[in-house]
Amino acid sequence: MNNFKNLRGTVDLLPTQLIKWQNVEKIILEQLFRSSVKEIRTPILEMTELFMRGIGEGTDVVSKEMYTFLDRGERSCTLRPEGTASVARALIQNGIVTKPSQKLWYMGPMFRYERPQAGRQRQFHQLGVEFIGYENVRSDIEIIALAWDILEKLGIKELNLEINTLGDQIDRSNFQKEFLKWIEINKNFLDLDSQKRIDKNPLRILDTKNIQTKNILRDAPRLFDYLSEKSLKRYLTFKENLKLLKIPFIENFNLVRGLDYYTHTAFEFTSGSLGSQATVCGGGRYDNLFSQMGGKETPAIGFAIGLERLILLAGEEFEKNREIDIYIINKGICAELMAIELSRELRNYDLLTEIDLSGSSLSKQFKKANKLKTKSIIVIGEEEALKNKFIIRMFTKEESENQEESILLEDKTKLKKWLKSNLLHKGSFSI
Ligand code: ATP
Ligand code: MG
Repeated sequence: MNNFKNLRGTVDLLPTQLIKWQNVEKIILEQLFRSSVKEIRTPILEMTELFMRGIGEGTDVVSKEMYTFLDRGERSCTLRPEGTASVARALIQNGIVTKPSQKLWYMGPMFRYERPQAGRQRQFHQLGVEFIGYENVRSDIEIIALAWDILEKLGIKELNLEINTLGDQIDRSNFQKEFLKWIEINKNFLDLDSQKRIDKNPLRILDTKNIQTKNILRDAPRLFDYLSEKSLKRYLTFKENLKLLKIPFIENFNLVRGLDYYTHTAFEFTSGSLGSQATVCGGGRYDNLFSQMGGKETPAIGFAIGLERLILLAGEEFEKNREIDIYIINKGICAELMAIELSRELRNYDLLTEIDLSGSSLSKQFKKANKLKTKSIIVIGEEEALKNKFIIRMFTKEESENQEESILLEDKTKLKKWLKSNLLHKGSFSI
């Protein structure tokens, strides 16, 4: 017999774990809805070329992390490693780039061939938000405030916002010239990974996690000193606005982010409680992406939250499951069918119901209801069923008169009245 196992770096999300996922996703979706951000869904599979062009061949993602294969038609396909390139493609292809400006979100699995470890998987999930067609610094502020509010609503502790500016392409190439001169002199002191980046993606060296390289970089030229007056002014306004909105931040001149297409604002949210993979959200402005991909020049800014890391950080209160409102105990041929009929009726009232399908004795079914901590039970014995009747009772309260009721299946008014006075949910239950 073959014992199948999931692929390394992929994870099964089991029903008990998904309670937290669903609760967290609900908060996120509500916040996005209230912020007029609309959903977009793009295919998980794309042409490899899209990511090579849209992310950049010098990046870690494209050069060593992609799941790429030839399909049966010999086309090179890739499982998406991130969402922004696909969103840009979809908008260009469908001719809706900025008609009008778009605030979009997506959520779903991403694939990167990385060494699996805590907080790092090969199939993981991201929530991404993209503001397309927005150039003004206010859009940078709005999108960061949105990320901040989502993270805060989820009770994320020890949250830090790190910011930097990457200037525009001219600022960057001016800086890169000086930086490469400095690197030429100091390259032997850099770690191996950083040395490999010199030709491919030198800016990424700034983002190193190697302590020794970090120390040496302290004496390197800073991108900040190469900003044009316009870029600098934009950055100062950005910081000023964050302060006015009382969103605390730390400046990190070495924050460059992995992907090639970023301009001006770059930011990351980290949390001290995450350990070594501390970044829960990364984002930035990418004014050059659309033109790089063959669309018209379109300013844009976005962020992506890693959902696995987010779930780790979210408070325990999100692990709570909603209690079952009514557990339906039934025994006998007529009773079993009536139980199904009744539960269908009850679902119209936003009640969480479960029917016992075991067919075991009533006392066993009672025990199960007890274990499940259900709020109330309905009991249908064969005798009641033959009279088209059932008994409904609050589970915890002993058989006191007004909390137990014998009701005829057709008598919806009586049922509603009982439900209203015994099982009222705050806000969600209206009949
Ligand atoms: P890192 O430096 O951790 O590799 P990154 O710059 O590659 O991050 P992004 O491409 O900015 O990450 O993705 C945004 C977020 O997605 C990250 O901050 C992280 O929370 C999450 N993420 C990225 N890669 C993984 C992964 N392999 N497993 C789980 N989450 C991930
Ligand atoms: Mg990475």
